Amino acid sequence: MTTQQLWQAALGELELLVSKPNFSTWFKATFIVSFENNRAIVGVPNTFAKSWLERKYHLMIIKALRNVAHEPIKEVIYKVEVTRPASSLSMPLFPSEKAVPAFTAAAVAAPVATITPTATGGHTHSLNPKYTFSNFVVGKYCELANAACLAVASNPGEVYNPLYIYGPVGLGKTHLLHAVGHEIMTNFPAKKVMFVTCEKFTNDYIQAVRSGRGKELKDFYRSVDVLIIDDIQFLSSKEGTQEEFFHTFNTLHQTNRQLVIASDRPPKAIPAIESRLLSRLEWGMIADINMPDLETRIAILEQKCVERGLEVSPEMLNYMATMVQTNIRELEGALNRIVAYSQLQPDAMSFEKVKQILSSITTNPAKKSLTPKQLINIVSEFFDVALPDILGACRKKELTMPRQIIMYLMREELKCSFPSIGAELGGRDHTTAIHAYNKIARETEESPKVKSDIDLIRQRIYNI
Ligand code: ADP
Ligand code: MG
Repeated sequence: MTTQQLWQAALGELELLVSKPNFSTWFKATFIVSFENNRAIVGVPNTFAKSWLERKYHLMIIKALRNVAHEPIKEVIYKVEVTRPASSLSMPLFPSEKAVPAFTAAAVAAPVATITPTATGGHTHSLNPKYTFSNFVVGKYCELANAACLAVASNPGEVYNPLYIYGPVGLGKTHLLHAVGHEIMTNFPAKKVMFVTCEKFTNDYIQAVRSGRGKELKDFYRSVDVLIIDDIQFLSSKEGTQEEFFHTFNTLHQTNRQLVIASDRPPKAIPAIESRLLSRLEWGMIADINMPDLETRIAILEQKCVERGLEVSPEMLNYMATMVQTNIRELEGALNRIVAYSQLQPDAMSFEKVKQILSSITTNPAKKSLTPKQLINIVSEFFDVALPDILGACRKKELTMPRQIIMYLMREELKCSFPSIGAELGGRDHTTAIHAYNKIARETEESPKVKSDIDLIRQRIYNI
């Protein structure tokens, strides 16, 4: 196995452990620089990604590498590298089948076409070249959404404005949004297309205001011809950002510029959203996406195999599509994992083995009810602190904060009583638990950092 293959296999594992936004933000642009003397050097695109991987994902990365490597891994180091090695991988799939062309690194970590708004001084917002209409499989489950997206892409600003797409996670909403962006760029090269996640919009806005560059950012967003915003439900409770978005929306809408929005729920179900914004979200077309049926799931798997040059027997595809029913991202994850295993141990690959691998995926631990111990582990891993330290008496800030967040989440997510929270955390008094709960509840209102840490932890807990 080459070092790049090793990293691809580790990414396959990591993809199943972190949420999609986290995976694309932190892992997609990574690659391996070297792997020598049990020490892996992982290339990352910038210092921000470096410190994030070090702080939040280090343990997970080491574990994933250890799971896939044939030799011990003692150390993982992250290094900012702008150019990635040209890695052309040739990975045979099932040995009994004829050799197939590569499942290349590009399939997992494709370079993204960036649109750089000069007005904001170099923020980059990306359209993922992987997501186009040509590789989007249309089934009954997404017919309306797909048709609406195509209509908008051929007449931006003229038909449905805004176009609002919603549906459960992992069913192709983000894919469709990118596809609209690409299509408009092809049909109308002069139009300025902007794709942004709501999280990014919020962060940009907060930072711009802080650094006194709010106006530049406003002007930028209000100058685009097409604004595509993903996961708008994250606007919930963010008053300042809602206000900004509201004005941006009005400016764009009044001048017939297109808005395309996706969410995991209909506008009405977004909590704490201002009514004037809600009514605007409902102005245009609202299209939902439901669960795909078995035939569509098989067609999607076939499409993914074609994209990657993989040959998998119809029997196997049918089996995967039957086992993984709710979510296309998981379906892809299953395919990735099977491909990764077949590359690592081509001789041991059999239908039985595939069944075994799938059964470990479909009994997803995140879906079972969460226990206090799991919650403590998740938070400790998130902050990269050791369990005995969390449960111990030391009162260093690096430990008190995670400890308090655990107490807060035990109350919020598990509805534990304060005495039992104290007991789980190394026998602390219930008043300590109450204090911690109140403190973090306050800080989630006041500190964007605490709020975003807690959001990320929730994403991990629920694997969203
Ligand atoms: P969502 O935004 O709804 O959570 P995504 O758009 O991120 O979901 O889709 C998850 C994965 O499933 C992506 O890799 C996407 O390419 C794939 N996918 C979803 N629906 C389809 C489809 N109809 N055809 C091809 N791929 C799909
Ligand atoms: Mg999405």
